[in-house]
Amino acid sequence: MDKNSKLFVAGHRGLAGSAIVRELTRKGYDNLILRTSKELDLRDNNGVDNFFDKEKPDFVFLAAARVGGIGANANFRAEMIYDNLMIQSNVIHSSWKHGVKKLLFLGSSCIYPKFAPQPMKEEHLLTSELEYSNEPYAVAKIAGLKMCEAYNIQYGTDFISVMPTNLYGINDNFDLENGHVLPVILRKFHEAVKNNKSQVELWGSGQPKREFLYSDDLAKAVIMVMEKVSFKDLSIGEKIINTHINIGTGKDISIKDLALMIAGITGFNGEIVWNTAKPDGTPRKLLDVEKISALGWKAETELDEGIKKLYDWYIENE
Ligand code: GDP
Repeated sequence: MDKNSKLFVAGHRGLAGSAIVRELTRKGYDNLILRTSKELDLRDNNGVDNFFDKEKPDFVFLAAARVGGIGANANFRAEMIYDNLMIQSNVIHSSWKHGVKKLLFLGSSCIYPKFAPQPMKEEHLLTSELEYSNEPYAVAKIAGLKMCEAYNIQYGTDFISVMPTNLYGINDNFDLENGHVLPVILRKFHEAVKNNKSQVELWGSGQPKREFLYSDDLAKAVIMVMEKVSFKDLSIGEKIINTHINIGTGKDISIKDLALMIAGITGFNGEIVWNTAKPDGTPRKLLDVEKISALGWKAETELDEGIKKLYDWYIENE
């Protein structure tokens, strides 16, 4: 990939895609092709194929997806599977058909079984049942990574799948019902301070543990993989399985401790009420990051530092 290569970043307005665009631009890549979902509906097979035929991108970052927190996964089970399967199938298939040199598919750490050993290694994929709350999303992402692998094996393409842990950062979704836990807690505490509220309700027991990665760190990992790694480097001898790559910090935190950290940053001193009628989701989701570390990447942003950056951005953009 050189500075003039034609790069298509699918999902460039989202949390991951926008971070990838910022990092590509910072590094001097300036031949980017970007389309909003209004300009190009990635669920539309003909539209996507015509787009690839006309634009002929050299490299594709597939960061477009229907995503959300535990609420969105419960409210939109049908869209979580349909939209994701359609988007990724269209983009992956057209990338093969139109000779894309390399594609990078972004998945998620929820592809792993609910009770996978912790930290979760790439090889734990498909070893036991999934967490039911986000099963449709996880099934779609597993199909995406297997589709990349299948095309590589049959057609000799170079399609690589990376599985980031829970992301947060600029352009996050702060929707109280459908957002992910970190931005939603930030917003809840910020609004409580602003409105002098002494109590905030959070979901579940506070006991589950999650791993959080700042989106700008993810972008650096993704671009490094695109620049340096090929599918053939990831298959061990004859064994072409579990060729995807985890991207995380290697550290996790309980939701309760996360809430206390965010309370400190936003200045919320009131009471936290845990609504145990709301779901906890999977008990723990910590990625093993040995593979990406061996490739030369490590997360740089400490959690408290990243939350402060996100809080500054939120206040500016509220
Ligand atoms: P997940 O990582 O896929 O489970 O999704 P989330 O990012 O939505 O995190 C869900 C975890 O955070 C669950 O254990 C929830 O019980 C807990 N949680 C606590 N308060 C909230 C909240 O206000 N919103 C969300 N989305 N999750 C919360």
